[in-house]
Amino acid sequence: MPEEKSPAEQLKESLCRRKQHACERLTPEEIARGDAFCEGYKAFLNTCKTEREAAAWLLEQARAQGFVPWEDGKLYAPGTKLYVDNRGKSVILAVLGKQSLELGVRMAAAHIDSPRLDLKPQPLYDDSGLGLAKTHYYGGIKKYQWAAIPLALHGVVVKKDGAAVRIAIGDGPDDPQFCVTDLLPHLAKEQMERTLAKGIAGEELNLVIGCRPLLLEEKNEGAKLAILRMLKEKYDIIEEDLISAELEVVPAFAARDIGFDRGLIGGYGQDDRVCAYPAAMALFGCAAPEYTAVAVLTDKEEIGSCGNTGLGANYLYDFLVGLALGQGANPRKLLRAAKCLSADVNAALDPTFPSVMDSHNAALLNHGVVLTKYTGGGGKYSSSDASAEFLAWVRRVLDDAGVIWQAGELGKVDEGGGGTVAAELAKLNLDVIDLGVPVLSMHSPFELAAKTDIHMLRNACAAFFAAP
Ligand code: MN
Ligand code: MN
Repeated sequence: MPEEKSPAEQLKESLCRRKQHACERLTPEEIARGDAFCEGYKAFLNTCKTEREAAAWLLEQARAQGFVPWEDGKLYAPGTKLYVDNRGKSVILAVLGKQSLELGVRMAAAHIDSPRLDLKPQPLYDDSGLGLAKTHYYGGIKKYQWAAIPLALHGVVVKKDGAAVRIAIGDGPDDPQFCVTDLLPHLAKEQMERTLAKGIAGEELNLVIGCRPLLLEEKNEGAKLAILRMLKEKYDIIEEDLISAELEVVPAFAARDIGFDRGLIGGYGQDDRVCAYPAAMALFGCAAPEYTAVAVLTDKEEIGSCGNTGLGANYLYDFLVGLALGQGANPRKLLRAAKCLSADVNAALDPTFPSVMDSHNAALLNHGVVLTKYTGGGGKYSSSDASAEFLAWVRRVLDDAGVIWQAGELGKVDEGGGGTVAAELAKLNLDVIDLGVPVLSMHSPFELAAKTDIHMLRNACAAFFAAP
């Protein structure tokens, strides 16, 4: 006979929410299924280090699965799979549902851009026998983390005639790599007294790209000219072409399992590809859904959703309105009834730095996807504060599907803060809430996420797309 529970235990069981490690709830088979899913995710991380590479990969997968480019104004049958390629940097995927669009769409939005260093428009110079490139960092980075690590160069150079030259150097087994230098401790007396924010300053993020000069008529013409000659030979580009280029400097290492038990993944760009991949995979798994399912994989979140490929722009609105009109539906009704997940990471409690978190409201790794009612900072500024009604609906969907989830906030009230695309989506007059994977070392070159949480996000998105 099991021992009878005390009245206090019985009350706690019925009244209190208990945080539970995913491994306590999942069977070994479910954990293994999640681990297998994460093998695909790691391959995605290694193939897609920039928003352009992620967009290209997603479009390739979509086409292979029968998705066709959306045509504005066209009438489509339920089950039709559509995609929108926004300038090669943002992607919308949709599967038409059986119900009228006036009953809303089910949408998951994640971003595929990540913090990094961008080459400046006129990056190349010679100094002290080295060939170097100036960079301008993109997104919120701790600049000191980018010195003395192996870096790769990914991106595109568009020549004056419109021809685009793709560049990806540093990730192949025999590729050369690049790096930003740091000062030796022996001579860093002044540098060590700087604050962490200025340990490496923005204008000190200079990339070493070569060291062997061009020798012409026994004269040393410097490494820059030698590099320009190589670029001309290999890519047929000249220095001015770099002005119309998007060249991104990203960590050159691959995603790896972390820990003796391999329960974590370490890798670059997990904010927010750790949500983009499960959201896209869940959408690819939608066959003839009841409600139209949409996945938006967007660019420019890390610098405020600006630009025509960020969700501050109208490209998603254009699609939703155009789709509704094409189907003979009232677009305003579609938007008002739309339900959306802003699938983005949240900070996990770091046991080494617990003081920045309110432990009662901090997410833990391996405790499921984080439901974040609001983000923002300084009193919920710049947040989208999801409505209690919508949150309750999402709770029900997750519980009914057996998805492990937790509620979280982004750190202590006065500690700082941040935002997501939820604020941009809310402007469309739809219901939106943040739901994502908790991560450690967010925005660093090597972020950590737990495999069970990644798998739970896939299941959460699938349940959301299929919910009645
Ligand atoms: Mn993010
Ligand atoms: Mn971010």
